[in-house]
Amino acid sequence: MEKSNLELFNRLANDLFSAEKEEPIIQPIAINELDDKLNLGLSAEGVSEEELYESLKNLMLNTPRTSTNRFFNQLFGGRNDKAVLGDLIAVLLNTSMYTYKVAGPMVEVEKVILRQISAFAGYDLATAGGTIATGGSMTNFMALVMARDAFNENIVEQGVNPGMVLYTSAVSHYSIPKNAAFAGIGRNNIRYIEVDEEGRMRVDLLEQQIKQDIAAGLQPFFVNATAGTTVFGAYDPVDQIGDVCQQYGLWLHLDGAYGGSVIFTDKHRHLVKGIEKTNSFSVNAHKMLNAPMTCSMIVCQNKRHLYHSFSNDASYLFQMHEDDYNLGKTSLQCGRRNDALKLWTLWKSVGTKGLAAMVDHQFALAEVAREYVRNHPDYTLYSFDSSLTICFTYKNVPSIELCNKLYESSTSMVSYGSFREQDFVRLVTINAGNKKEDILNFFSGLEDFVAKGMFKNDGIDRNVANDEVVCCS
Ligand SMILES: *Cc1c(COP(=O)(O)O)cnc(C)c1O
Repeated sequence: MEKSNLELFNRLANDLFSAEKEEPIIQPIAINELDDKLNLGLSAEGVSEEELYESLKNLMLNTPRTSTNRFFNQLFGGRNDKAVLGDLIAVLLNTSMYTYKVAGPMVEVEKVILRQISAFAGYDLATAGGTIATGGSMTNFMALVMARDAFNENIVEQGVNPGMVLYTSAVSHYSIPKNAAFAGIGRNNIRYIEVDEEGRMRVDLLEQQIKQDIAAGLQPFFVNATAGTTVFGAYDPVDQIGDVCQQYGLWLHLDGAYGGSVIFTDKHRHLVKGIEKTNSFSVNAHKMLNAPMTCSMIVCQNKRHLYHSFSNDASYLFQMHEDDYNLGKTSLQCGRRNDALKLWTLWKSVGTKGLAAMVDHQFALAEVAREYVRNHPDYTLYSFDSSLTICFTYKNVPSIELCNKLYESSTSMVSYGSFREQDFVRLVTINAGNKKEDILNFFSGLEDFVAKGMFKNDGIDRNVANDEVVCCS
């Protein structure tokens, strides 16, 4: 890389860091103004270095700032410097992970991570295996395909068996029905199992449904449990679900894309008690471990299934070394970027204890937020303990409108969710770089904003000054 481009990168990075400090949240650009403001069109002629710098800078500084202390909108956030360092090096090396010939020691970097995660999942290392995919949606897809092919080994050649049914909770991730369609199972063959008051799959209803389906001549084969549901951050009871799956011979996958990182901490690992009963487990380092997008692992008890479902010979690719070191044999992809190195760099740097500290800190921040909501009578709490997600309403202000206006006014970025017809704000304390005061500032920012009087049901007495209420939208 030419020195001038490295310098350009440094300039741009510094521009971003100062901007993030000064203005943690941007003023969003209206979609119809994008072209005017950012000059994104491409033309036959190139531009000068200085023009390129200006264009890139303009683009960067107008992109939503997902790493600052005012971004709570998604199940990711923050910036872990060590993981970014690893990812920058991965880009420079431009490795493709399919063979040892091309990836060399990076293969071992990925394998070290997957072995450790298999060990934390309680899998037997003699048989366990895993891979890194482009995200949790794809690791869930891989689990489903392996379960399908384990159910009937001939499906890879002969196609799908009618009557196969799978089970997942009513509040599980939307990649489950998408994947059921991709995998030839069909969306209609999913049983959505109702959850309890705290958003966890009801094991009694799961078993009842399985029995009913067997009696009807159908063929149950797969249960998806979730460690950290998307709205409540709830943990399904893996231990009991595992017993049901063993009894009926069903593949059990644990979708830990959001909350699976509790495996790294003694303090919170109990949330996935029974994980060793699962056939496969997936976890995203780009969520709770704050690694850059994307870094998503799947491990399974028996790597035989990875090979059975995902390996395909290709004489032009797999020419040397044993299968175990040609990672393309267990991957959904052919060319694959090195997503292992960012997690390896972070993990090497802080150790498993450092990962545990990040996770524990996120739970501590969640506790700060929950306590705040509980202790302030203007708030109503809808979520539960042992979760990084805090769902609440404030003073009867409509939550969807509140979130939209907080965004439009550049106050904070936070999302909303709903459960049993109730809408609420969904605050996620996933940025391990945040401090207690960042969480408290979020609430005071929200309160100050509502106090400006833009909402009808905010408890402000408008008997006299109805006309003077300012409106922001
Ligand atoms: C985020 C998430 C996914 C999807 O992961 P991506 O990496 O975004 O594809 C799947 N399941 C759960 C529970 C999630 O929170």
